[in-house]
Amino acid sequence: MLSVEEALEKILGEISVLDAGPVPILEARGQVLTEDIYSSIDVPPLDNSAMDGFAVRASDTIGASRNSPRILRVIDTVIAGGISSAVVTPGTAIRIMTGAPIPSGADAVIPFENTDDEPRKKQNSGDSIHEVSIFTPAEPGLNIRKAGESISKGTLALAKGTVIRPAEIGLLASLGYPEVNVIRRPVVAIISTGDELVEVGRPLPPGKIYDSNLYSIASLVKEYGCIPEILGIAEDKEEAIAAKLEQARDADMLVTTGGVSMGDYDMVKDILERDGEIVFWKVRVKPGKPLAFGKLKGHNGRSIPHLGLPGNSVSCMVSFELFVRPALMKMMGKKNFTKPFVEVVVEDNMINDSGRRLYNRAIVMRRNGHYYARLTGPQGSGILASMSRANALVIIPEERQQVSRGEKLKALMLDWNEAYNIDG
Ligand code: AMP
Ligand code: MG
Repeated sequence: MLSVEEALEKILGEISVLDAGPVPILEARGQVLTEDIYSSIDVPPLDNSAMDGFAVRASDTIGASRNSPRILRVIDTVIAGGISSAVVTPGTAIRIMTGAPIPSGADAVIPFENTDDEPRKKQNSGDSIHEVSIFTPAEPGLNIRKAGESISKGTLALAKGTVIRPAEIGLLASLGYPEVNVIRRPVVAIISTGDELVEVGRPLPPGKIYDSNLYSIASLVKEYGCIPEILGIAEDKEEAIAAKLEQARDADMLVTTGGVSMGDYDMVKDILERDGEIVFWKVRVKPGKPLAFGKLKGHNGRSIPHLGLPGNSVSCMVSFELFVRPALMKMMGKKNFTKPFVEVVVEDNMINDSGRRLYNRAIVMRRNGHYYARLTGPQGSGILASMSRANALVIIPEERQQVSRGEKLKALMLDWNEAYNIDG
């Protein structure tokens, strides 16, 4: 049976990075840039004011204080987005708002607080001021943002391979880009298999259960920036599964759940082997042992990676995190395939009699600079409630049969909820 690493290596070996295309910047979040972005403009385009105040000549302010203010004649007002045609000559000042271009002649901005403008400003009588008292001296450049200080024209703003986050989206907008070229989002076809499954919203006949895997898997697909293509429930019949597989032939990946335990999988395997292949079946992991990995023949001669996840609702989610997510990250052109690990002190005794690598559902909390892990309840592979309470999977190596409270283990962080950062 393959180890987690061996299985992952085999899967990643069959995965290629998808093609790229232009998308509106707001839709590119989480996608990988496929072009170097050079700026065709200076950002900001002109020297501008960092404060609301008065644009002055620094040399006019030498020695200014509250007791001995420098009186300047106010010759204009300039707002953000405007340009003043007036020139600040010795003895004059221009009232200026944050973001407004620095008028010619001026080389510093004195904020309102350091002038006698403040009370009058509050009375909204801006334009009626003709004189201002300056209470503090300024060095040239004070409160001036230089043209191009964020990005200067012709320089590299974002390198190919960058993952687009909100800051990058804002940066692209500041350069005037409405669209950007990124690796496209994988389309993941999802099928759940099982005669016992019922679609939510319908009555539950005796002996049946609601199909939860379709929903947990589809939402993981979305969470990681991919597009779920929900194909629904297939009964455990060859024709039913074959009909669903037929609809998956345009997808970038196929994820099925269920029907991979002893005997069951033969059905899917037969269908897959007819026009695809099985790469491996079973991994030394708990939960999730009966994972199957194969390739489905897609349209236009494409080979579609097929991850056959176990049916148990926690097994399929854990398998998704360990094997499907990294494959999707690779398709999206990302460099980091796995989520972060932290070292934790365990607060429960744990047993591993499986001989496989065990992933226990736990809450990881930070206290006094250390991470502590507590199990979230019964660990049966179908008990989704303990998955719902967990923010991490604590990893017990295959060779460890027992771990005692106080020992250290690695935990795979499923999410970082700031509520668990007790000491910040
Ligand atoms: P299987 O891998 O098909 O043998 O399924 C293993 C267990 O998982 C069985 O108890 C199934 O009823 C359960 N199961 C399979 N598919 C789903 C599903 N889509 N939603 C919830 N439970 C499921
Ligand atoms: Mg089944």
